[in-house]
Amino acid sequence: MSTNAVRRRSRRQETGLWRVPVLRVDQVTPRLTRVTVGGDTLAGFDYAGTDQNVMLYFYPEGVTLPDTLADARARWSTVRPLTRTYTVRRYDADTHELDVDFVLHDAPGPASDWAKHAAPGDELILVGPSPAYQPDPTADWYLLAGDETALPAIAAILDALPGDAVTRVFVEVDDATEEQPLPVPVTWVHRAQGVTLAAAVAAADLPDGRVDAWLAGERTAMVTLRAHLLDDRGLDRRQVRPTTYWRRGETGI
Ligand SMILES: Cc1cc2nc3c(=O)[nH]c(=O)nc-3n(C[C@H](O)[C@H](O)[C@H](O)COP(=O)(O)OP(=O)(O)OC[C@H]3O[C@@H](n4cnc5c(N)ncnc54)[C@H](O)[C@@H]3O)c2cc1C
Repeated sequence: MSTNAVRRRSRRQETGLWRVPVLRVDQVTPRLTRVTVGGDTLAGFDYAGTDQNVMLYFYPEGVTLPDTLADARARWSTVRPLTRTYTVRRYDADTHELDVDFVLHDAPGPASDWAKHAAPGDELILVGPSPAYQPDPTADWYLLAGDETALPAIAAILDALPGDAVTRVFVEVDDATEEQPLPVPVTWVHRAQGVTLAAAVAAADLPDGRVDAWLAGERTAMVTLRAHLLDDRGLDRRQVRPTTYWRRGETGI
């Protein structure tokens, strides 16, 4: 791992498997469902904030669910779950509650389909957690840009930044009904109006100084946005950290 990667990622947490009950389901916006899971089993969860994420394991109906990672791995050759990655939107170390925000998309997919029907008492299997992005404390300002799948991470990154941090936040959503309150001003990009994330960033008057840019969303949008920041804005590639969160037409990246 490069020095840069060490600076920008927290230490790797010990990976565990948590089989946890759903406590609540909230419809945050028409296309975003918040599932709160929790209980004493989550007591050892090593939360690091920002874009920290977990793998969700989805098993076929009727299969006995594993209680440990060793158990899941031992049965890997006979029953292999479908896995999807989701951000930990919130973890409360006192109540051991954890929120995952699911974008409900139209194409069938095990994670989105599960969330559409999730109800208290259902079980969810989390594996992780991952390391977390650590905002560069020496940056003059922070660019956060993504679509609604990145919104949980953007919100958690904003929670972690100092209150006086200079931020520019761009979030692409369907339309105004998908906007969520965030603690800083946000440029909401409405795809229903044909605007793209890269176009919105390109049109913006951005601050001077060294930026730490965190980007996440659909693969093509990330490629276009990264190219704009490097080629048109002249940013150093070490300042720009894009992550593909999903690919149009592809399942389970
Ligand atoms: C590190 C990381 C963190 C993530 N955090 C979150 C999060 O907190 N919340 C969240 O909702 N997603 C998050 N994602 C994205 C999520 O993992 C993908 O959207 C995933 O493909 C959803 O799985 P699925 O089973 O619903 O659909 P899949 O089976 O993977 O895909 C089925 C079809 O749906 C399409 N599709 C997938 N996602 C979308 C979408 N958002 N909009 C439109 N079409 C889509 C695919 O292109 C495919 O055609 C994250 C991804 C990564 C890598």
